[in-house]
Amino acid sequence: MLQSKLFGKTSKTKEADATSINHELLVRAGFVDQLMAGVYSYLPLGWRVLDKISDVVRDEMNKVDAQEIYLPALHPKENWEKTDRWDKMDVLFKLESQTGSSYALGPTHEEVIVPLAKKHIASYRDLPGAWYQIQTKFRDELRAKAGLLRGREFLMKDLYSFHASEDDLKDYYEKMKEPYLNVFKRCGLDVIITLASGGSFTDEYSHEFQVETKNGEDLIFKCSCAEARNKEIVGDLKDGDNCPECGKAVEAVKSIEVGNIFDLGKKFSKDFDLKFTDEDGKEKEVIIGCYGIGISRLMGAIVEVSNDDKGIIWPKEVSPYEYHLVTLGDDEKVYKQSEEVYDDLVKSGKEVLWDDRRESSNAEKLNDADLIGISTRLIISPKTDGKIEKKERND
Ligand SMILES: [Zn+2]
Repeated sequence: MLQSKLFGKTSKTKEADATSINHELLVRAGFVDQLMAGVYSYLPLGWRVLDKISDVVRDEMNKVDAQEIYLPALHPKENWEKTDRWDKMDVLFKLESQTGSSYALGPTHEEVIVPLAKKHIASYRDLPGAWYQIQTKFRDELRAKAGLLRGREFLMKDLYSFHASEDDLKDYYEKMKEPYLNVFKRCGLDVIITLASGGSFTDEYSHEFQVETKNGEDLIFKCSCAEARNKEIVGDLKDGDNCPECGKAVEAVKSIEVGNIFDLGKKFSKDFDLKFTDEDGKEKEVIIGCYGIGISRLMGAIVEVSNDDKGIIWPKEVSPYEYHLVTLGDDEKVYKQSEEVYDDLVKSGKEVLWDDRRESSNAEKLNDADLIGISTRLIISPKTDGKIEKKERND
């Protein structure tokens, strides 16, 4: 890709309404554009990153034999009444059609996938099953802020697993922690697995995958004796208080939740009468698990923790391009050499953004390269004397 033709310009000026580092840097570097609070357009650089994160997630989900599907974003009101969430979920976006029918814009998809599963699950032979999608979700947030971290429209991976017994679900639930840890590692993030409450519809606990950062909205409590705990389940515990388990001082840290896994039990099977016949011919309710990863939120979280005073530092696997080829000076010979290098790299299947802008100064080009943050930079200038200088953005 030639940078002279790239859709999306960098900006030196600070974003007046930026509420977070990820908003500030992603807008200034030309990755996203804010349409309104909590709603963003993705420009080519931003869309490439989102695509790469999606591919990492797909790769890890396919490894645990989950199959990718795609469900509608527009849901009939009746399904949400069946689960008693039409009135109770305050963030549910509701639409009225000119036909008089009402619809929801999906913030989650139990109301679609469970009735779908009912058409395909009849016997224990149909279980277990695990299906996932990468879909746009909607939440009617009162305070949409923090850039891509808390959106009203966002991209998410949600996976649902269906089991004949609670034990089988527990096995799969535990097994799912590994691909989750792989996803976050490949995205350059250290995560803390955190015990959390099961939400409003289950007595079971859930687990969250939290990234520690001073700008996080969540608060988690760490102690060496056990897994970290979300603030919802520790009561009035404060930083430095004695751990209820071992008595040592707990550490409270701010964090961003980038994924979660839930044991939904039989709640939705009961609502939609999803049953199967077991080996003895008895009818039983299916046990369901749910596993989410916020894809666009993950992009925001990466920028929150991986940046310096000059710009973004993309981890290799989700960098918008593998190489940022930067040509300095205005020497005809140097441009000719750059063009050959660019052609060779592209021919060998490499992803390259070439800063071929003749009208930009060297300082402008280097500042932009720092701001955009592509993981590996190749510099060609009259000074490099026919050679290429290679530099990692995180050096
Ligand atoms: Zn402890």
